[in-house]
Amino acid sequence: GGAVLALSLAACGGEGAGGDTDTSGQDPKDLTIGVSMPTQTSERWIADGNSVKEKLEGKGYKVDLQYAGDDIPTQSQQVDQMITQGADVLIIAAIDGTALSGQLQAAADKKIPVIAYDRLIRDSKNVDFYVSFDNYKVGVAQANALLTGLGLQTKDGAKGDKTGPFNIELFAGSLDDNNAHFFFDGAMDTLKPFIDNKSLVVKSGQTNIEKVAILRWQQETAQKRMEDLLTSTYNDGSKVNGVLSPYDGLSRGIITALQNAGYGTAANPIPVVTGQDAEIASVKLINDGVQSSTIFKDTRLLAEQAVIAAEAFLKKQAPQANDTKTYDNGVKVVPSYLLPVVTVYKDDIKKELIDSGYYTAEEVAAGQ
Ligand code: BGC
Repeated sequence: GGAVLALSLAACGGEGAGGDTDTSGQDPKDLTIGVSMPTQTSERWIADGNSVKEKLEGKGYKVDLQYAGDDIPTQSQQVDQMITQGADVLIIAAIDGTALSGQLQAAADKKIPVIAYDRLIRDSKNVDFYVSFDNYKVGVAQANALLTGLGLQTKDGAKGDKTGPFNIELFAGSLDDNNAHFFFDGAMDTLKPFIDNKSLVVKSGQTNIEKVAILRWQQETAQKRMEDLLTSTYNDGSKVNGVLSPYDGLSRGIITALQNAGYGTAANPIPVVTGQDAEIASVKLINDGVQSSTIFKDTRLLAEQAVIAAEAFLKKQAPQANDTKTYDNGVKVVPSYLLPVVTVYKDDIKKELIDSGYYTAEEVAAGQ
């Protein structure tokens, strides 16, 4: 179907989609895919980078994988270099979703297709495709996990055996990451009825994303904010019962602050703390009953989608989207492929993380 192909490429609308030279008949070993990842401080991005590289190399492509150390100029420079060195497709997980317009214009000028990986790149027409998870649903799942942990609701969303009121505090991710807003919106829409009927009380009063966001998703910043909250808001003998945390790294910072303040005993139990990414350090904490839950996003499946999209572009085809409405980057709605997410409590570790081969039983149990 040449006609179908042309139609779907037009529907895709990406300026650079498909490339200027016909790569469709080329030997994969003559094609290079540039993969730009944000940081190695969080293990999920290491897993992402490795999976994408392995899968592409398995198909014979050359891969230029770079990590930017969470530094925006470094990422810009690395992407610039991929373009100069003749990348045929770019796969980018941005640090700051608004900071790459110049690079994306340079890519478009050379007709290099750009795939935004997990994080949407904003303010540019030159984003050709987006692979991610359903980020709003991540936030909903985190809020539901908080409600379930507190006993306000059951795992299936039925009414729980507790009524509260419970004191909670809220955290959000980095404001320059488009996902942070989706996570927080999904969570707040879900928590709102419980805040309205007073079964949840945000005792600090800090409910605005600007107030609760943690720049660059830094664990130490989250720990510091939790320490500050304990001093400012809970120095009257009251207790925190739950914390909405959007990412395992932040959750561990929050837990450290709580433990340093004496939480984590029978008389003073650790609050219900949520998370995201199923990082091994947090999976262990969940296994030990310290962290309550995490949201598992299988990076192997995301990497696979990125590879499928890259190959489609190299074959001058439009990758198959399953969402064409949600991700408006400020200039256009970027066709997306979104994967589902799984909530993991202690009871789910075996089925979701070990039986699926994401971790071994030994990794989860190590150090006990
Ligand atoms: C990702 C999350 C991750 C966070 C911090 C977000 O963009 O979607 O999975 O927890 O960045 O790295």
